[in-house]
Parts: sequence; structure tokens; C-alpha cells
Amino acid sequence: MPPASALFERLAALVHQSVRDDAARHGLLPIHLQVLGYLAQANRYSDSPIAVAEYFGITRGTVSQTLAVLERKGLVARKPDERHGKRIHLALTAAGRSVLARSWARRLDDALAATGHDAQAAQQGLHALLAALQRQNEHRAFGVCRECAHFLVEGDGYRCGLTGEALAAVQTTKICREWTAPQAA
Ligand code: SF4
Repeated sequence: MPPASALFERLAALVHQSVRDDAARHGLLPIHLQVLGYLAQANRYSDSPIAVAEYFGITRGTVSQTLAVLERKGLVARKPDERHGKRIHLALTAAGRSVLARSWARRLDDALAATGHDAQAAQQGLHALLAALQRQNEHRAFGVCRECAHFLVEGDGYRCGLTGEALAAVQTTKICREWTAPQAA
């Protein structure tokens, strides 16, 4: 079997090609499609231009240009935060969601399932590897809310221990820029 580094290189090249092809089908650049994919997963603390810049490691200028294209094409809309005046949230429109509906990510999930291996175990292994590489590169982890050290279950509901705010169930399966790894037992 080839070394892991060669396998990841090939996988990365195939994913890049798929992203390019999908984006071109919609008259978009790869970064446009990637930002749509990110916003579909981001929770309410992470659906801002600065979080997009942090997630992709790109400048705020590039983010502004990318969002301008997505808004002009009617794929993303800005919504003011109900509680914090200056804060805005970026949300996919119905057209934005439909761009993602048949994307490379779906095909990758299907291909993974078709290998016959335990998809969840593979996902856990990839997640651990990603976390290790992010630590090496001092990147924010952007983990899933339910797996965060600050995540609290209170009766029938959920709360963020960092902000003190209640969390809707739909937010708890999304990714967050403030995510913190739980301490090892
Ligand atoms: S519990 Fe953690 S991941 Fe969830 S909203 Fe709070 S900081 Fe973000």
C-alpha cells in the first residue's frame, strides 16, 4: 500500500478537481463553493465574514469579494443579529442550498459508504488526524458543538457554557469557531 502521505495527496487532488468541476457548473470559483459548504455547517457564532476568513486562512479582502459574488448571485443573504446590533449572520438562500444539494461532498459520502468499511470509524480517524495537524499549524479547530468542552445539557435544552446563551437543537450539530477540546479524563 502507498504511504499515507501519498494517499492523502491523491485524495486532495481528486477533491480539488471535484470542487473545481462543481463550481464551474454553476459559474463559480472553487472558493465560492467552499464558502457555501462552510456556511451550511457553521453555527450562529461562526457564520460571519471573520469566521470564514479564519476557517479558510484567507484575507478579509478575499472574503469580502467572495461574499459579494455569492450575494449578487442570490446564494447567500445577510441577516442582522436580533440581540447584538452590529453583528450579522450569513445564511444560505434556497438557491444556495440547491447548489450544494448534488455537490462533491455527497458523492464523497456515497463513495465512502460503498467501500464497505465502517464510515463512522473512518470519520473519527480523519477527525483525529485533522485535529493533530491543526494543532501543529496553530489553526482553530472548528469542531462540532456537541463535542465541545463548553457544551451543556440542561433538562430538555442545551446551553453554551462560554457565552451563557441557550442553544437550539439545530445549532448543536454545527461547527463553531469557539470550539474547545474537552480535557482528557
Ligand atoms: S458550546 Fe462550544 S461549540 Fe457550542 S457554541 Fe459554545 S463555544 Fe461554540
